[in-house]
Amino acid sequence: MDGLMMDFPLTLDALLRRAETIHGGREVVSRLPDRSWHRTDLGSVAARSKCLAQALQKLGVTDGDRVGTLCWNHFRHLEAYFGIPIGGAVLHTLNLRLSPQELAHIINEAADKVVIVDESLLSVWEAVRPLVAVEHVIVCAETDQVPPGMLNYETLLAECDPATFVQPALREKQAASMCYTSGTAGKSKGVAYSHRAICLHTLAAGLTSSFELYERDCVLPVVPMFHVNAWGLPYVAAMCGAKIVFPGPHLDPQSLVEAITQEQVTVSAGVPTVWISVLKELDQNPGRYDVSTVRKIFIGGSALPGSLIESYESRHDIRLVHAWGMTETTPIGTVSYLRHDQHDDPPTQQSEHRARQGTPVPFVEIRAIREEQQVPWDGRSMGELEVRGPWVAESYYQRPDAADRFSPDGWLRTGDIVSIDPRGVMKIEDRVKDLIKSGGEWISSVDLENALMAHEAVEEAAVIAVPDEKWVERPLAAVVVKSNQAVTAEQLREHLLPRVAKWWIPERFEFVSAIPRTSVGKFNKVALRHQLLDA
Ligand code: ADP
Repeated sequence: MDGLMMDFPLTLDALLRRAETIHGGREVVSRLPDRSWHRTDLGSVAARSKCLAQALQKLGVTDGDRVGTLCWNHFRHLEAYFGIPIGGAVLHTLNLRLSPQELAHIINEAADKVVIVDESLLSVWEAVRPLVAVEHVIVCAETDQVPPGMLNYETLLAECDPATFVQPALREKQAASMCYTSGTAGKSKGVAYSHRAICLHTLAAGLTSSFELYERDCVLPVVPMFHVNAWGLPYVAAMCGAKIVFPGPHLDPQSLVEAITQEQVTVSAGVPTVWISVLKELDQNPGRYDVSTVRKIFIGGSALPGSLIESYESRHDIRLVHAWGMTETTPIGTVSYLRHDQHDDPPTQQSEHRARQGTPVPFVEIRAIREEQQVPWDGRSMGELEVRGPWVAESYYQRPDAADRFSPDGWLRTGDIVSIDPRGVMKIEDRVKDLIKSGGEWISSVDLENALMAHEAVEEAAVIAVPDEKWVERPLAAVVVKSNQAVTAEQLREHLLPRVAKWWIPERFEFVSAIPRTSVGKFNKVALRHQLLDA
C-alpha cells in the first residue's frame, strides 16, 4: 500500500541532534577524581561527541569496530555514549571492577580496537594491557600529560571540528553498543545493542509509567555507565533535556548525598546496597543534608526490601520505585507502580505492592514457565521468567553454545524464578541458581531476606541453600546486625514466624560483619557460600 509514513531510521544521531538543538543549554555536571566539579552542557557534549567520532575515524576506526571504555560516570563517558555509535562504531563499556584476566578476556573476545581509559584507572589498565592487542589507548586526563604510547582525549578532540564531521548513514539494526553480563550466573556473555533497540528503549524508559523524566528534572545516575548503559538514563536524560549530575568515582554515601544536596537532584537510580548505605548516612546525620528535592529513586539489580521503601518514605519523604531488568534487556523490563485501586491501601501493604518488580513496560512481554508449561497468572505459582521484546537480546555475541538460554519459540530465558498476578504484576521469588529446594518445594530466598531486613536490628541479610540429608536443601541466613544493636537467632526466628511459612524458617543463622558484593554491588552469594560453607 502507498501513502505510508517515512522510513526514518531509529538511530542515535537523531537523539543527539535533539539534545543539541532543543536542550543544548541544559547542564551536565561531573565530579572529578580530585572532588572538584566540572560543568558543561548538552550542546558542548553534542559538539564534542562529533569531534570524538571524527577523531576515531582519523585513527582508522570504521563501521562496526569496537571501542572500549574503562571509565567512571562523567561527561566524557557521555560523549563516548554518543560519539562512538554515531560514527558507526560500537561502544563497549568495560566493568572496571573485574579482574585484569576477566577484562582481558572480554576485550579480546570483543576485539576492541581502541580503548578509552580514565587517568584514575590507569593502574587497572596497566595490568590488562600486556594481555590484549588494542591498537590505540586514549586517556581521559585533566592535564596534558599521558603515559608514553597513549593518546590524550582532549588533544585528540582539539584537533577535530564538529562542523566538518560527516555523519555516516547509520542503519537502525546495526550495533551501537555492547556490554557483558556481570557473570554472577556463570561465564560472562556479550550482548550487542542495536541503535533501534536503544532508541526504542529510551522512548519506553522515558514514559511516565517508567522513569517519568521531565526537562525540569535533575538526574543523578549512580548506576555505573559500564553496567547496562547506566539503565539507559543518560540517553533518556539527553532526550528529555534533564540536567545530569555524574558522581565520577565518588560513590560513597556521603559524596552521593552531598551531590544530591548541592545540585538539587530530583531523580536518581542504583542498586539497593547503595541506597541502604545512603539511608544509614541520612539517619546518622539528621539535619545535615537537604534531600527534599528528590522525587524518586529507581532501584533495581536485586530485590528491594519493602522495609527500605517504608524507611525512605516515612523518614525522608523519598519515593523508591522498583524496576527489573538484565544486561540482556537493555535493561528496563518491568517497573513497579501502584495500580489505580491500591493508593488507599495501608502503608505496609503499599510497600509490599511496590517491592514487587511490577508490570512489563510497553512492548516487553513476559511469561513464567515450569516443566515446559506456562504457569497461571495467579500471583502464587512459580516458574522461570521468559521475556521478549524489541530491546531483548536474540542471542549472545559469538556464543552459539548459549543457545539454550532461548526457548524454541524465541523468548529469552532469564534464570529468574517469578510469580505473576492476574494483572501481570511480576514478583521475583529467586534466581534459579539461588532457589532453595526443600523437600520437593521451593523456598524463596528473596522473601526470607526481605522479611529479615524488616527487623529493626538487621542491616542486611542474605539467604543461601545448605545441603541437608533429609530435606536435600535448607536455608541458611547470613545476617549483618546494625551497629549498637543486638539480636539473637531465636529472636529472628520469632520475627519470621508470622511473616513466612513455618517450614521456611532457617535452622542456621550466621552473624557476619558484611555480605560480600559483586562487581556491580549486588550480594555475592557465590562468595558467601564459599565463606560460610567451605569454612
Ligand atoms: P548478572 O546476571 O550477572 O547479575 P545483570 O545485571 O544482567 O547481571 O543482572 C540481571 C539479574 O539481576 C536479573 O536476572 C535478576 O536476577 C536480577 N535483578 C535485576 N533487577 C532486579 C530486581 N528489581 N529485583 C530482583 N532481582 C533483580
